[in-house]
Amino acid sequence: MKNYIKPDEWNIIEEGFDPHLNKISESIFSIGNGRMGQRANFEEAYSGETLQGNYVAGIYYPDKTRVGWWKNGYPEYFAKVLNAANWVGIDIKIGDEVLDLNVCKVTEFKRVLNMQEGHLTRSVVAENKEGKAVKVIAKRFCSIVDDEVGAIHYQLTALNFEDVITITSCIDGDVKNQDSNYDEKFWTEVEKVQDLNTDYLVLRTKKTDFDVCTGAKSLVLINNEQLSLSPITKDKYLAQTTKVNVKEGDVIDVYKIAVNLTSENHEKQELINKSKEILDQVSAKGFQKLLTEHSAAWAIKWQESDIVISGDVAAQQAIRFNIFQLNQTYTGKDARLNIGPKGFTGEKYGGSTYWDTEAYCIPFYLSTAPQQVAKNLLVYRYKHLQKAIENASKLGFKDGAALYPMVTMNGEECHNEWEITFEEIHRNGAIAFAIFNYIRYTGDNSYLSEYGLEVLIGIARFWKQRVNWSTEKNKYVMLGVTGPNEYENNVNNNWYTNTLAAWCLKYTIEAAEIVKENYPEQYQNVLSTTSLNAGTEFSDWTKIVNNMYYPYDEKAEVFLQQDGFMDKEQILVKDLSGEERPLNQKWSWDRILRSCYIKQADVLQGMYFFEDDYELETLRRNFDFYESRTVHESSLSPCVHSILAAKLSDEQRAYEFYLRTARLDLDDYNNDTEDGLHITSMAGTWMSIVEGFAGMRVRNNQLRFSPFLPKQWNAFSFTIGFRGVQLSIKITMGQIGVTNNSEQTLEVYIFNEPYSIPKGERVISYDGSLV
Ligand code: BGC
Repeated sequence: MKNYIKPDEWNIIEEGFDPHLNKISESIFSIGNGRMGQRANFEEAYSGETLQGNYVAGIYYPDKTRVGWWKNGYPEYFAKVLNAANWVGIDIKIGDEVLDLNVCKVTEFKRVLNMQEGHLTRSVVAENKEGKAVKVIAKRFCSIVDDEVGAIHYQLTALNFEDVITITSCIDGDVKNQDSNYDEKFWTEVEKVQDLNTDYLVLRTKKTDFDVCTGAKSLVLINNEQLSLSPITKDKYLAQTTKVNVKEGDVIDVYKIAVNLTSENHEKQELINKSKEILDQVSAKGFQKLLTEHSAAWAIKWQESDIVISGDVAAQQAIRFNIFQLNQTYTGKDARLNIGPKGFTGEKYGGSTYWDTEAYCIPFYLSTAPQQVAKNLLVYRYKHLQKAIENASKLGFKDGAALYPMVTMNGEECHNEWEITFEEIHRNGAIAFAIFNYIRYTGDNSYLSEYGLEVLIGIARFWKQRVNWSTEKNKYVMLGVTGPNEYENNVNNNWYTNTLAAWCLKYTIEAAEIVKENYPEQYQNVLSTTSLNAGTEFSDWTKIVNNMYYPYDEKAEVFLQQDGFMDKEQILVKDLSGEERPLNQKWSWDRILRSCYIKQADVLQGMYFFEDDYELETLRRNFDFYESRTVHESSLSPCVHSILAAKLSDEQRAYEFYLRTARLDLDDYNNDTEDGLHITSMAGTWMSIVEGFAGMRVRNNQLRFSPFLPKQWNAFSFTIGFRGVQLSIKITMGQIGVTNNSEQTLEVYIFNEPYSIPKGERVISYDGSLV
């Protein structure tokens, strides 16, 4: 765990330069706009430890699978979001010496991520080997107003010398992924064009043939006088350079405005022209105007999604950081895009889509963004339905059964460890649950008729074929699966998966009834598209729902994570020595598999999804049993535990789990922030506050809150959108303030009592009286 980020409500601040922390900071200070993003690499050359990263959403390479023992059904490739052309480069030479912070003496260093306005600033005072010192202030952002645009203002002041400075502003496409399986470079050059002060480099991905045009216009001034630039060209590289004599106190300003256009959004042959057009438009506005527009757009995002915590700066900073990164990663403008577990902040997980989106991210976007944003995440899976059906048929399923991939970019499976690819099938259920969750929140049943029902039918058919009848148990069983707890593989009757499967079957029948009744015409369309035999199939599914086997331990009175779980040696996590943890780094895999230790919520994930189906006491027993065996070695784990602890009124533990998720990356809790941020678990942090501390739920079309205030805080408040109404909720000791910012009156339940909330604020005390 690290503790070097300075507390501040709106900014992430690093002071002083420690090269050992650089890769961590490069992740933390990442910027993005849903369409592209980048790690906080320096503009100048840097020869120290760095993970260079510029990523363009949806642009990937199918890297040939590398496994020890090939298994039938494995996908041929692992899709990887590509490290794309680096447009931030501004190389500096003082005399003949390259400005490189790894070589210089860095006397002042500050990196600030301004989350309120959405930009990254770095200020440095550095002295080279000859004792020549410069001050650099570099500010940059990826515009959320025009998401194909990014901009930098790089200012250098000569502090104590007279010499020639060379400034080279470049686009470098000669980049590679560090996680490349065969050390291959994934880009080929298609075209490059240089205009006055401007470069356009078009690169094409091997195999997938995506074209990306990166353009940049550079303006270099000394003491406000523009310098003329000379072009440089090399393989996959373009630059504009100039040399200038400087003396002490002279100031060089570089303004660099860049665009990234892809063949996913423009015709290939039009890429350069279109880039020119956009670059001309935005550079006419200039850096400052673009930044002002961008900051104004961030102000609106914050109005919709901010959480304010008073009395705890570290917590305030952390939650804003999580919200900021989520909004930088996904904006919901394009249903072909999704949320990689590391967003645009690193290569790990390949930038691909996991069940994380449906199980963890949907609630955040549902509450804090226009409805279309969460809807597009669902439509993404709808568009992949045919691929999910093909995926299932490759594994031997038939008749329209759909198995969504564990990891995907375009709907095809690209994960290849048999115990996950073939067995971690619970992801199918999360996709169905997300449809339910979306409809529960929005009331938008038309989604079912247009898209949702077809997906549900595919998923239901998969479960129907995946279970088998056990004559021994006289029940339907599900063999050979991996639950969310990946510290168990190939188990029989994972309670979570069985529960989710039965629920999917039941929900699909209910969804079909809703569509049949309200959208009869579309119902007929769905019947014919899916060739659904409602009579037989529903009756088969109902049989499974009524006869599913759920492992249970009579003695402990808990649901069993899987058959045989009690045969394991039951030593609790608290009795494990600290030196043994994290288990995934200290123990052999076989030892982990044989142990009772749980990576992340498994039974408890199910109890979180379906909490209304269980008595509080049942929840408590299962929570106590499973939490005490959970090592939380997935970042997705603590949030679910925080929400359940809050539900059980265990405020202390709810807060402790929250802390583990909130500053996970800022404090590098798991020693892995250098690989990138845990974007999907950030949504879980948001849930810990809104669903945990504020106890927000939607039941019977109504919003409900049963809040508590962590004793470390004075108050917390947040804004959510719900069915056309924008609400601000403020929780103080003993009171909840609900402000309805819309004209429409809303009925809200507080601790199970209904209150009518017209426009304006109402304050209700925890004991129910209106204040
Ligand atoms: C977790 C999975 C998750 C993946 C990506 C793994 O460590 O066990 O549940 O989908 O990370 O976040």
